[in-house]
Amino acid sequence: MTYAPNGTKGELRASKRQLATVIDLNKCMGCQTCVVACKNLWTVREGTDHMRWMNVTTYPGKGYPRDYEHKGGGFRDGVPQTGALTTMADCGDSFRFNHDAVLYEGKGSSVWMHPVGSDGKPPEWGYNWDEDSGGGEFPNAFRFYLPRMCNHCTHPACIDACPNNALYKRDEDGIVLLDQERCRGHRHCIEACPYKAIYFNPVTEKSEKCILCFPRVEKHVAPACNRQCPGRTRAFGFLDDEDGQVHQLVRKWRVALPLHPEYGTEPNVYYVPPWSPFAYAGDGSLTEQMRIPLALLEELFGPDVHRALKVLADEREKKRRREDSELMDILISRTWEDRYAEFTAAPLEPHVAGTGGKPK
Ligand code: SF4
Ligand code: SF4
Repeated sequence: MTYAPNGTKGELRASKRQLATVIDLNKCMGCQTCVVACKNLWTVREGTDHMRWMNVTTYPGKGYPRDYEHKGGGFRDGVPQTGALTTMADCGDSFRFNHDAVLYEGKGSSVWMHPVGSDGKPPEWGYNWDEDSGGGEFPNAFRFYLPRMCNHCTHPACIDACPNNALYKRDEDGIVLLDQERCRGHRHCIEACPYKAIYFNPVTEKSEKCILCFPRVEKHVAPACNRQCPGRTRAFGFLDDEDGQVHQLVRKWRVALPLHPEYGTEPNVYYVPPWSPFAYAGDGSLTEQMRIPLALLEELFGPDVHRALKVLADEREKKRRREDSELMDILISRTWEDRYAEFTAAPLEPHVAGTGGKPK
């Protein structure tokens, strides 16, 4: 349990330092390990079935919660925008399979396995419903995976929207937390967040959100989603830590970009944009045209994506010529420890005697 301090909105959203996550979309394989790591740790309580504080869906697709990009919220020119609520159905029905009929009632050869929604009907939507569907036409179809979580924004619309001042940013690391004691379940935060990263718990009748694993972070253990990623896809650390990969990718090389910067909340999850496979011409020959439309990437990451892709292409070319590329070495990350700056303590041994929780 954490408690929000008293203060003005300006004080509640101020922080001296900011933690951030970088996700390399060229390395994400959609394995859902980060999702399961978070789900097992934080949302196995009553009323949290539909919550995935960490989620990974295929893009293009409706995302999670369904159609979050079209539900408003955030700011335009600093002015708060009207937003819609998300429903539990948007997060995906908690459907079951007819295991009993197929496995235990002797009907295995006449009944096939199928999902049944909570209303007894075949489900029409679920988490990661669009998995691997993608866009484009064969042979130029394309897709990529888009992991999403609360962005622990620098200007969080959720903090501004709460009439009870239940949401606040931690001064020491910029983590945005929601005080369960102060929350009255009005859900204005859900309407206001343009990323729809807050969920309503129908049992407690309060809102809940990602806490960036702050009890782990305080002991120098990276958040579970980042730490468990088997692909070295994710980096984590303070934005102002010049030695950390987060700083180097976001501030120095500027190849990691925020998702939908036009939402105006200054998010602190950054993405290395996906490098597209080349498209085939009508005669089957390979062209130099990108399969993933640049307009789509611009829609997601803003106009700066063109510069970022050019930097990535130039640095990749250096490696091809067997020259050194600091950027490519960062993106490859030969050891997992490189990814997490000062947050490399083991989750099961956070209290290493005499080291303040840091690894020996
Ligand atoms: S992503 Fe949404 S919930 Fe998270 S800090 Fe930003 S506005 Fe708040
Ligand atoms: S664990 Fe890593 S590779 Fe797997 S889905 Fe999450 S970000 Fe992608």
